[in-house]
Amino acid sequence: MSGSGGMRTALVTGGSRGIGRAVCLELARRGNRVAVNYARNREAARGVVEEITAGGGEAAPFAADVSDPGAVREMFAGVEKKWGPVEILVNNAGMTADNLLLRMGEEDWWRVLEVNLTSAFLCSKAALRGMVRARWGRIVCVGSVAGAAGNPGQANYAASKAGLVGFSKSLAKEVGSRGITVNVVAPGFIATDMTARMGEAAESAARAGTSLGRIGQPEEAAAAVGFLTSEEASYVTGQVLRVDGGLAV
Ligand code: NAP
Repeated sequence: MSGSGGMRTALVTGGSRGIGRAVCLELARRGNRVAVNYARNREAARGVVEEITAGGGEAAPFAADVSDPGAVREMFAGVEKKWGPVEILVNNAGMTADNLLLRMGEEDWWRVLEVNLTSAFLCSKAALRGMVRARWGRIVCVGSVAGAAGNPGQANYAASKAGLVGFSKSLAKEVGSRGITVNVVAPGFIATDMTARMGEAAESAARAGTSLGRIGQPEEAAAAVGFLTSEEASYVTGQVLRVDGGLAV
């Protein structure tokens, strides 16, 4: 299969909840079989798989802490055994551990860098061999507007998300000649468990900053990811697509 479509194998990290869950459903809707990765929330991951299979699609859950090299290796071996090489990789798993820098412990610095950025290195490397062989591949990293603008209390998070941009642009240049594209979707404020923790004040401030005057839904971020994984996006690589309701307009 070389770029002619058909059922492809997709892996979405952090597919159990929030944006990742919506990406799993979107990729299934586009006719891909979906490996739904999760860290701890087995029930939520199963729910996503059931929703996809109930709609006639194909999906399976894969547990792995994507910051753990051994766990990532095992996960890719499991997906390949079941469906063959991963053709579409969405590096979505992410976390926050907010604090002002003066109060930020080393542990919170490293954990956020490992889960948000090192995970993309590990998973992309694992997926790349098969993509190079197939001379086709799509990698999308879920960044954040915080990676470009910064955010007080999020030096670790913003650094990880800015890091994903440099990572993705470099990889795009390395593998473009093999028919593999690498892009970043950078959401603004999207209604998920991650932002629910931030409270009403943060949400209304976020809403006020947008041109659309509202926060975003996971499906709106997922639609952009869906496009960038598609056949039609074959001439788009090394880009950062903001899905932020017009935050910086
Ligand atoms: P969320 O609701 O908190 O969901 C996080 C997902 O990541 C869950 O599926 C979780 O799995 C998984 N995960 C966390 N740590 C993991 C690890 N070590 N290994 C594997 N999976 C892990 O977050 P979200 O809001 O959907 O965010 C998804 C992505 O979008 C993140 O990269 C985030 O930084 C980015 N983003 C979000 C927003 C926003 O406004 N929500 C804005 C910009 C960017 P479990 O269910 O097993 O815990």
